[in-house]
Amino acid sequence: MKVALRDDDTSFFTAPDRLEAVYHDIWDRLPVALAVVPKAAGFADKAIPERYWRAERAFPLEENPDLVQFLRAQLAAGRVSIAQHGLTHEDFPGGSEFQAAPDPERRVSEGGAYLERVLGTRPTVFVPPHNALSKRGFQAVTAAGLNLLGSFLSFRPSLRPWDRHTAANWWRVRQYRAESGRTKRDRLIYPHVLRYSGHSEFGCHGLIPGTTADELIASFEEARRAGGHFCIATHYWEVDTVLRDVLRRVLDHAGGYADVQFVAAERLFDPT
Ligand SMILES: [Zn+2]
Repeated sequence: MKVALRDDDTSFFTAPDRLEAVYHDIWDRLPVALAVVPKAAGFADKAIPERYWRAERAFPLEENPDLVQFLRAQLAAGRVSIAQHGLTHEDFPGGSEFQAAPDPERRVSEGGAYLERVLGTRPTVFVPPHNALSKRGFQAVTAAGLNLLGSFLSFRPSLRPWDRHTAANWWRVRQYRAESGRTKRDRLIYPHVLRYSGHSEFGCHGLIPGTTADELIASFEEARRAGGHFCIATHYWEVDTVLRDVLRRVLDHAGGYADVQFVAAERLFDPT
């Protein structure tokens, strides 16, 4: 059983100290998949310092050289891996970046190439800002061959292009939902990798203020009973001592099983 950890929103606005404070005693045990915003827009948002709220421009990662140096060092030490989190993470009148930007194709390719140039590693995983994708956003990401980390269980043709695997995946998810006693409305993180023609998908369990260790441990145990894998997703900027303790307790619980492997999130998608 593989267990992975994803952290969203590292960007120009991130002070290396913040990542260090949250993960210093975790990332030697479990590499953290940092979903990085290549050129983050300045706008009013909890993840952005207030002085940038009216900046009205995008800030490439390189304008924070301390962060770039820090990320390169942590990458070299195997403590982090780099996923792509949009291009600017800005919102549009019609929705979030990969729901409503007029040019998602350019955003995928520009962001991926930029991260590769600046950090020396080409992301293979994409995390959509706000975990939201339009059908076109979906197509843009998957046409680039990127795997998706997030729970995208809607099979509505208006939201997802269909390929030769889609019907079988829809059926697997439907069966799992029924076997676990869930209705269509009940929350579900499917514990297996869903493989499609050009990409794969895996869902993560959120660790946000209010999430308890007992909840995450119950989800972990459910994934374990199903013979699946487990991924936690959080945001360093809202991890306080309470959430850090929740994370530590869940990882200690998972680490108590001899067959649990702590892996970089990219490894969830390895062929079995
Ligand atoms: Zn985000």
